[in-house]
Amino acid sequence: MINVLFAAKADRWAAYEPHLKSGLAAAGLTADLRTEFPPEEVDYIIYAPNSAVQDFTPYTRLKAVLNLWAGVESVVGNPTLKAPLARMVDPGMTQGMIEWVVGHVMRHHLGMDRNILRQDGTWEPHIPPLAQNRRVTVLGLGELGSACATKLSQLGFDVAGWSRRPKDVKGVTCLAGEDGLTAALSRADILVLLLPKTPATENLLDAKRLAQMPAGAMIVNPGRGQLIDDEALLATLNSGHIAQATLDVFRIEPLPADHPYWAHPNVTVTPHIASETRTETASQVVVENIRRGEAGEPFLHLVDRAAGY
Ligand code: NAP
Repeated sequence: MINVLFAAKADRWAAYEPHLKSGLAAAGLTADLRTEFPPEEVDYIIYAPNSAVQDFTPYTRLKAVLNLWAGVESVVGNPTLKAPLARMVDPGMTQGMIEWVVGHVMRHHLGMDRNILRQDGTWEPHIPPLAQNRRVTVLGLGELGSACATKLSQLGFDVAGWSRRPKDVKGVTCLAGEDGLTAALSRADILVLLLPKTPATENLLDAKRLAQMPAGAMIVNPGRGQLIDDEALLATLNSGHIAQATLDVFRIEPLPADHPYWAHPNVTVTPHIASETRTETASQVVVENIRRGEAGEPFLHLVDRAAGY
């Protein structure tokens, strides 16, 4: 019998329980899946970083922590966690992110906010270029970034992507390193941020780097709020150098009511909804990792604790 602790907010249990139970049974695993166990009896923790479990020390026979979120910044540095940590790579979440990113890139590309006219008698058509003449840059070419970059390229955009290590993504100009970042930013008519929050990416988009972007550029951030220096972004939005920003993630969430982003005419705020983990597909990913653990096979999607993602 494998003991699997589900450690996430209570409303998640109801959503996940049927999928996890049927998945474990289908994988031929005899597992006891619960929201409470004596810690020393737990083999696997299916985990959300906002759960009550923050000290892993009492979980003495833990084989792995299986994160339900793609972002691991609030668990990766936990010194009490000695067991392997796997992050969420969920086909449902990837598809959701593609849809959100393509939707907002299209909105900015087509000038939809400008072209849907209010009934004030003004008639100033704004004719967008074709996608092939719009340069989109995606910072982060991981599971989500490479999927979005690929789809944008398939739509005809001139797409570049940037990652820590050199990558090869079909239809995408792949850049890496500091020089690659300058090149990536200087051609970004529309910039999509899909980097994780790590010490190396915090405030990556500061005043200097925002200034490297073309005048009139637009930013779409479904990555993490900490990737952007907020003061610098507000200054460059006010100067007009950056024309528009669509922001899904923030340093403090919910975004405080008095934050200048709310009232800024060129900022669109969305409430961290770019893409949710989908319970059905995510349950299959978690079950596969438990199956692997029991079969002595390597876990999928292990986090590099030193790199922080
Ligand atoms: P991932 O597969 O780990 O990919 C991360 C990418 O960022 C990789 O290409 C990586 O480079 C690159 N990267 C990391 N550190 C870097 C650095 N210092 N310099 C340059 N590139 C760097 O992650 P993912 O699954 O695509 O998810 C990305 C992020 O999206 C998550 O961490 C999370 O913050 C965010 N997210 C948001 C939502 C939402 O609803 N808003 C939902 C899901 C995820 P390498 O390829 O060289 O490793």
